[in-house]
Amino acid sequence: MNQFPIFLSLAGTAPLVVGGGELAAVKARLLLKRARLVEVASDRPSPQLTALINEGRVKLVSPRVDPAMLTGRPLVISASGDAAEDRRVSELARALGIPVNVPDRPELCSFSLPAIVDRGEVTVAIGTSGAAPVLATRLRAMLERELHPRLGDLAGIAREFRDQVAARLPPGARRRAFWERVFGGPAADAVYRGDDAEARRLMALELSGTSARATANAGRVILVGAGPGDPDLLTLKAVRALKSADVILIDNLVGRGVLEHARREAEIIDVGKERNRHSKSQAEINALLVHHARLGRTVVRLKGGDPFIFGRGGEEVDQLRASGIALEVVPGITAATAAAASLQIPLTHRDVARAVTFISGHAAGDGQPDFSHIDFRALKAGGNTLAVYMGVATAGALARALIAADWPPATPVIWVERASSPRERRIAATLDVLAASPERLGLAGPALLICGEVAGLTAAGAITHVASAPVKTDTQTETS
Ligand code: SAH
Repeated sequence: MNQFPIFLSLAGTAPLVVGGGELAAVKARLLLKRARLVEVASDRPSPQLTALINEGRVKLVSPRVDPAMLTGRPLVISASGDAAEDRRVSELARALGIPVNVPDRPELCSFSLPAIVDRGEVTVAIGTSGAAPVLATRLRAMLERELHPRLGDLAGIAREFRDQVAARLPPGARRRAFWERVFGGPAADAVYRGDDAEARRLMALELSGTSARATANAGRVILVGAGPGDPDLLTLKAVRALKSADVILIDNLVGRGVLEHARREAEIIDVGKERNRHSKSQAEINALLVHHARLGRTVVRLKGGDPFIFGRGGEEVDQLRASGIALEVVPGITAATAAAASLQIPLTHRDVARAVTFISGHAAGDGQPDFSHIDFRALKAGGNTLAVYMGVATAGALARALIAADWPPATPVIWVERASSPRERRIAATLDVLAASPERLGLAGPALLICGEVAGLTAAGAITHVASAPVKTDTQTETS
């Protein structure tokens, strides 16, 4: 309503917290994010407060709060646990013109505490005048995601340059343009990736009139795992990479919602790969990455799941290294863990599966998968879970190979198709069904196979069961 936001200095006299309980400790700790010392009026400090006292960060003062104790304070928070005492402290403080807050008693407060996004030099305070604290918390979560963790460091380095900039550039458009270039350009990128020395070099260059963009190190490539499809399964780092990208190379395992995080100006290149339809060869993709990076661009190579699990990320890394291009890799949630999470069944389980093996069912040109490098017999002995990628077309061959290696025909298997997408489907069966007639499962999209005892654990959500008994009509039953 009538609240006015300000940032208050706690450099002088220590702020005062009244009370020795847990709530008082929470408030003291909050103030200690900015204050060197907090004074606490209590004769019975909680263990948490005692710890802070021992660290020399909290000083205990008399619990009998009087005007002399309040005078000169930047603020006071009364959390005594005694409503009458809180009211008395509030009245005293207000009579003296000292800002006062009593947690959860808005009528006793002359200021409220905002939800805070803390990036050191950069602080965002969110207030709703007490109307909707949960909304403030949501906004904070949103900003936490959006604001780079090193934003405060960027502001700190900018501060180092302030005087030089003021001496060289007149206030107004030119000075503002300088800072726009710094905060939106390679200098800021350098801070974000942790290279403060490079950031200072680029700021100095920019100030000397040389465009930092022109002289910045050549571009770079960020190899980013986009996860299984659901944009909520992106990492914060992946989102930041997308926001920083000038060019984004995607393939068709990448969920479209993921691209919502890209800048509108970013160029998006679909190098989509599907079985039997390679729209760009790996060599062409490698060449594209190098080409755009050499033009000084930030190139994001988005890959479904994790780039280093059956993602040919290794080949792209080799090529980029050989070309001397700066590279970063951001991991993603791989299909196997996404599928397991959706089913709520673990890939390892102390009782039934002490290891998990990720294998590929991909078949070379002749259509036959090659499992000769995998010792299925040994894996069975270990109580292994198999997570099979690219296995839809070759599932029958895999099941027969497993049965030949003494896996029981009744071993449970479960497919998750399009895991994490709105069109996700799950189909459960046993190895013998897979070996005899895999087409009965009717798989269409990308699907991940979980094979082993864990696939027989109780899963969450709707599952189609395909039974092994030979039934003439309608073998599928829906359960939930
Ligand atoms: N790098 C990816 C895997 C690429 S191989 C990752 O880490 O997930 C492609 C195979 O991954 C598909 O054939 C399928 O088996 C699996 N896959 C990818 N996304 C999937 C999804 N959303 N649901 C089920 N399986 C998926």
